Amino acid sequence: MTDLAIVKNIAKLQERIRNASQNYGRDPGAITLLAVAKTKPAEAVREAAGAGVTHIGENYLQEALDKIASLEDLALTWHFIGPLQSNKTRPVAEHFDWVHSVDRLKIARRLSEQRPAALPPLNLCLQVNISGEDSKAGVSPDELPALAAAVAGLPGIRLRGLMAIPAPSDDHDEQRAPFAALRTALEALQPEFPDLDTLSMGMSGDLEAAIAEGATMIRIGTDVFGPR
Ligand SMILES: *Cc1c(COP(=O)(O)O)cnc(C)c1O
Repeated sequence: MTDLAIVKNIAKLQERIRNASQNYGRDPGAITLLAVAKTKPAEAVREAAGAGVTHIGENYLQEALDKIASLEDLALTWHFIGPLQSNKTRPVAEHFDWVHSVDRLKIARRLSEQRPAALPPLNLCLQVNISGEDSKAGVSPDELPALAAAVAGLPGIRLRGLMAIPAPSDDHDEQRAPFAALRTALEALQPEFPDLDTLSMGMSGDLEAAIAEGATMIRIGTDVFGPR
């Protein structure tokens, strides 16, 4: 069964990305669409891949491993974006290309140690608690420089950038403020760590604000796959 809704959703999203890029002077080619597939079946991911999506985000480990196994025939890049406990790091290190949700050195160390030598280093973003969000996930901006320095030295890791999930808001300017703060935090690290090139920010409801503030990866679930 072909789910045309997903194909249409992706076309609409690509237009939103183009429009926002034009409005805010961004190169649309510098913005990667990460399709967030949590709770959605492998067949939905296959439809998205058929419409040109190559980056897939997952939050729940077991569900993700099942999908990775059943979609092995596709050239997809898999991103782990959910909360990660230290007893779950090994399968993430073995099966994913990126992790966006690391906020502790202990987790990064385990991912580095457990990354198979035959694979390239695991791409990693540090999750920052940029607007003091309730979820408590994310390193505080104060502790970010020390964490970044420690993580950047791990052999199995390639530190790529920062990720945030700000408190939701319907107001464009309110949405932009935490994204601007994340961009500023990345810019503060870049002189010391010139490889940092990734701002993972923006979801279905605030991708325009994230693009305005420099997002290089937007993580879109609902507006690709429909409501969960
Ligand atoms: C679910 C999720 C998304 C996608 O959210 P939508 O609002 O459905 O686009 C993005 N990032 C993270 C970390 C998520 O858990």
